[in-house]
Amino acid sequence: MSLRIQNLNKAFNGQPALRHIDLTVGPADFVCLLGPSGCGKTTLLRIVAGLLDADSGHITLDGRDLAAIPARARGFGLVFQSYSLFTHMTVAENIGYGLRIRKTPADQVQRRIAELLQVVRLPGFAERYPDQLSGGQQQRVAIARALAVDPALLLLDEPLSALDARVRAELRHELREVQQRLRIPTLMVTHDQEEAMSMADTIVCMNDGRIEQAGSPRALYLQPQTRFVADFMGHSNLLDAEAARLLLPSQAPAPQAQPGLALCVRPEQLRLEPARDAAGRVLAVSFLGSIQRIRIEWRGRTLLAQTTGGLALHAGDRVHVQLDDTAAPAWVPAPSTGVPDRAGAGA
Ligand code: ATP
Repeated sequence: MSLRIQNLNKAFNGQPALRHIDLTVGPADFVCLLGPSGCGKTTLLRIVAGLLDADSGHITLDGRDLAAIPARARGFGLVFQSYSLFTHMTVAENIGYGLRIRKTPADQVQRRIAELLQVVRLPGFAERYPDQLSGGQQQRVAIARALAVDPALLLLDEPLSALDARVRAELRHELREVQQRLRIPTLMVTHDQEEAMSMADTIVCMNDGRIEQAGSPRALYLQPQTRFVADFMGHSNLLDAEAARLLLPSQAPAPQAQPGLALCVRPEQLRLEPARDAAGRVLAVSFLGSIQRIRIEWRGRTLLAQTTGGLALHAGDRVHVQLDDTAAPAWVPAPSTGVPDRAGAGA
């Protein structure tokens, strides 16, 4: 199964919410729509689900136009942030609901429920009601319910964001594992960059109704094509050509001046060496255990570096700042004023 979205547009009261969206979800692909609040992620997912009409554009599933197919007949599995389980039904009844309304024979429904309880690691929970489950368990049931009908496409809208950090991390892993095992094409909305990076084959980074960049997590992180992507995909130091030249190790060729572009250097691509009269001065250290983030004042700029937790640094220490030999930072369009940095934000 392959979903294709072509030149999709949607406005609410004259305000564009989606502009010229082109996107493909291939068979077995896990695609994350990632972006800040209001960028249009949920609108796009709802249009694909058939819960909302686009103003223009086409959506096809294996070449079949979805426009004329109502939401219920699309055969998609949906999971939302709020668990949206039927509270008066048991876990088993919730999971079997879609099969029962399709008039699936009772013994097959029972078999499928038992199978899915194994898949989402809830054997023994069949007779419980939703209010007897934790948030994570409820979301597992919601996932099982979405999978029960062998969906042609799985649509997930922030399915993990109501859960606490630990359960969320666990379920990320489980959901991805199930998706890969069952090879279901999946489109998931999230505003959490780490979640998208850890789960997706392809991240579609959206901003103001547009796709800024689509690609693998690695490509978006290491080769951002816009400043927005550089900023949204983790911390970045955006440096002018002069700073870039100063930072590169001496044996490396000097970078070409790139008018209108800035070098996107990730914090972990900076190498720090304590030295008494070095140009860098440590402003603050956030110790996070295995790593630490260090804010540095360096030649009139503020940089954010990240090192292993083992390097003992304190505010006021002087450090040499260099670009790591293995780093291949990307050039992105520069901001309109001065030397950019939002480095201070994360330290
Ligand atoms: P969030 O992460 O906060 O859920 P989102 O990226 O999913 O945000 P959408 O819910 O798709 O964003 O909204 C995109 C834009 O469309 C927003 O400006 C929103 O206010 C607007 N919008 C969404 N639904 C409607 C509606 N039913 N009526 C009017 N405007 C809407």
